Amino acid sequence: EHVCTDEVSKAKAASKSAGQPTIFSKILDKSIPADIIYEDSQCIAFRDVTPQAPVHFLVIPRKPIPGISDVTQEDEELLGHLLFVASQVAKDEKLEKGYRVVINNGPDGSQSVYHLHVHVMGGRQMTWPPG
Ligand code: 5GP
Repeated sequence: EHVCTDEVSKAKAASKSAGQPTIFSKILDKSIPADIIYEDSQCIAFRDVTPQAPVHFLVIPRKPIPGISDVTQEDEELLGHLLFVASQVAKDEKLEKGYRVVINNGPDGSQSVYHLHVHVMGGRQMTWPPG
């Protein structure tokens, strides 16, 4: 099976820059703008610039971990915190009917930004399986 959507080829190209600073570093240091809806000492949450649902935000650690496959045991608490924040911001966003939490990883996962991020999407019926 050969799948090559725009998104997939973008993601494959991005994997070659893994380990380099990303656009999310610039959002974190506020050198580029983003619609930040939550922040604390460990992470921030901001709206996705290309929303795939009526509500679509990302939760990212301040620590520049490239992806979920790069974490070590010292990141265990931070990972829990990212999911906790995802649930709290989902509440703030009134996603009481439900939502989807996604982490894309690596080329096959169609990851396009190599700074770990948790997607939260809601406000519509999600379908399964994802593409
Ligand atoms: P990935 O495909 O790596 O899981 O997701 C990266 C996400 O970051 C995409 O949904 C994309 O729309 C979003 N994104 C990429 N660049 C920017 C940006 O500069 N600002 C914001 N707010 N979102 C971005």
